[in-house]
Amino acid sequence: MKASPVVALFLSITASSLVGCGSKKPAPQSTAGSGTGATAGSGTATGSNAAMPPRNYNAISRSDFNRFAVRANLPIYWTADVDNDKNLDANEVASLLFYPSQTAWTKGNAFTPAFDQAYDTIVKLAAAPDAGIAEADLARAKLVAADLDGGRATLVHNDFSKAPADDKVFVAHMLKVAALIDDLYALQNGTATLAPQVKDTLSQSLFRRNRGPKCAAPGTDSNPACTAIAGLNKVAFDVYPADIQKADDFCAVLEKRKDAEALLTPFTVVRADGKGFKAVPYTEAYQAPMAAIAAELRAAADAVKSPNEAPLITYLRAAAQSFTDNNWQPADEAWSKMSVDNSKWYVRVGPDEVYWEPCAHKAGFHLTFALINQGSIAWQKKLVPVQQDMENSIAARAGKPYTARKVTFHLPDFIDIIVNAGDDRDALGATIGQSLPNWGPVANEGRGRTVAMSNLYQDPDSQAARKAQAESLLDATSAANYFVSPEPGLLSTILHEATHNLGPAHEYKAYGKTDDAAFGGPLASVYEELKAQTGGLYLVEFLRGKGLLTDLQAKQTYTDCIVWAFGHISQGMYVGTGKAKTRKAYSNLAAIQIGFLLDKGALTFDANIMAANGTDKGAFVIHHDKLIAAINDMMTTVAGIKARGDGKAANALASKYVDGAVVPHKLITERYLRFPKSSFVFAVTQ
Ligand SMILES: [Zn+2]
Repeated sequence: MKASPVVALFLSITASSLVGCGSKKPAPQSTAGSGTGATAGSGTATGSNAAMPPRNYNAISRSDFNRFAVRANLPIYWTADVDNDKNLDANEVASLLFYPSQTAWTKGNAFTPAFDQAYDTIVKLAAAPDAGIAEADLARAKLVAADLDGGRATLVHNDFSKAPADDKVFVAHMLKVAALIDDLYALQNGTATLAPQVKDTLSQSLFRRNRGPKCAAPGTDSNPACTAIAGLNKVAFDVYPADIQKADDFCAVLEKRKDAEALLTPFTVVRADGKGFKAVPYTEAYQAPMAAIAAELRAAADAVKSPNEAPLITYLRAAAQSFTDNNWQPADEAWSKMSVDNSKWYVRVGPDEVYWEPCAHKAGFHLTFALINQGSIAWQKKLVPVQQDMENSIAARAGKPYTARKVTFHLPDFIDIIVNAGDDRDALGATIGQSLPNWGPVANEGRGRTVAMSNLYQDPDSQAARKAQAESLLDATSAANYFVSPEPGLLSTILHEATHNLGPAHEYKAYGKTDDAAFGGPLASVYEELKAQTGGLYLVEFLRGKGLLTDLQAKQTYTDCIVWAFGHISQGMYVGTGKAKTRKAYSNLAAIQIGFLLDKGALTFDANIMAANGTDKGAFVIHHDKLIAAINDMMTTVAGIKARGDGKAANALASKYVDGAVVPHKLITERYLRFPKSSFVFAVTQ
């Protein structure tokens, strides 16, 4: 299911906070910036008058431009100040998908009149954010604005302008599929019919981003007054009868029925049937929209001309058929036969995850459309010839009773997202690892696919935020090895995933006991992830020794892993409270690693030196001369605990670093969480 043990590397993490809210497009807005709602000013667009001197677009900073563009619900994004002149230039603007309107902001190398209008709207709104909002609505509007500000618009951009003609046609069809999937998902989650009730531009933006009227950012999400539709805070999901959803325990009521099994199948909706209920297939409940998606998928298949893409064509046609007959198994079979070796694309379309709705039974429609990450393929090819050496090395660290076994890698498919549609696209954060399908023979026989989304959080803003986080915790010398590039993160993700295949794993029994039996479920997960991430550190020196990494790349990867660990520590060690309190595997492992390095002196905290940012007093120092020995010890300790099924040692290490005082949890969290969460927006240059 979603966010399986796979990957949660890179910085802040999944946050596929599965709020069950989707949206049909908000009430149509004419074009960009035409001031409909209270918040949008009409601007002073002058059109393109050749006699006018070229105007500047430097009235507002880039971050404010993007923030107020979201508030104005305008599909515009200042991608980067490429030439650092603080002026928005025509090659620095992107037109965003999944907004109520689509507007061309540039023509050739020049801005369009629509751009001028949008620019003026944004500047005016930033100068007077509350202008025009009725007094009675001001409190709600301020909450809505705060919720929008709780996410920093973060661009996922793909450029197909130089791609082969066939690819362009294919991409265009897939973007149509994406829009249709969004509409279908909004039907499923019951928000499609609410769109006309969303009155002002600010609220329309919230409704669009949050896939419904509810707020989503930490702090505002729990405030019932924070809503896009005044007075409305509960949405009836279309997959169950609206009447029964008035009761808070309606899921339990359904689950206790004799016919529960028939009613709660994943690809049906529950409808009233006389005094009882019946399950209606998706293809019946959503016949017209699903037929439209099937047609578009067939058109996409027709557009693919490359003989190398036969498995993709087969899958697209199988998926189209499933959208017609509601039988998803043939599509799963075709999908499972696709791989990083036989297609450059990654497509998954259909109903898959169930977390979006309150009972978690009905599969939500989504589209994941991505490119296979070629960089990860290159690394996999380098690692496969040395995989047995890696196993032997880790087995030697693990010690008795574990002995090296014959290993073959099964790495996830690393994919670079083009668009996430339907249930795939969250208000804040994104899913960065997924195993599918959830049902049927392909799932039950272990023939599914696992993916890691490798391009998310790699945009310039996210990279800059993460660099600032690193520089708030590390001293200047240590931070100098923090490399602003996706490479170190990608390599450590690959080594982490590789190490899941190495040493004692879930199926290994120490003296007859599995890791679940030896450590208990949650701690077993911590140790499997700790082993994987420790392998991510340990194998760096192994690869450097083989000449596959330079000294500098090794240092950068270590630094990246330490910053990654700080990020996970900042997420907190547990979820839930009381009896429901459980360990967060990644956070726990991060604390254990940082604690271990501190105790070994490979990482020190000096309260009297300044952090690299020059403003925070007290910073961590990485001692590269002690790091490799400390990591080797860590590998021996962690793999050894797993090899022996040593529950006592596992608990001792966890209590010392997860719950104890060695790791300054509070300081790390305070410095790391100064930055807003990412809210992904998408642009495709065609
Ligand atoms: Zn893992």
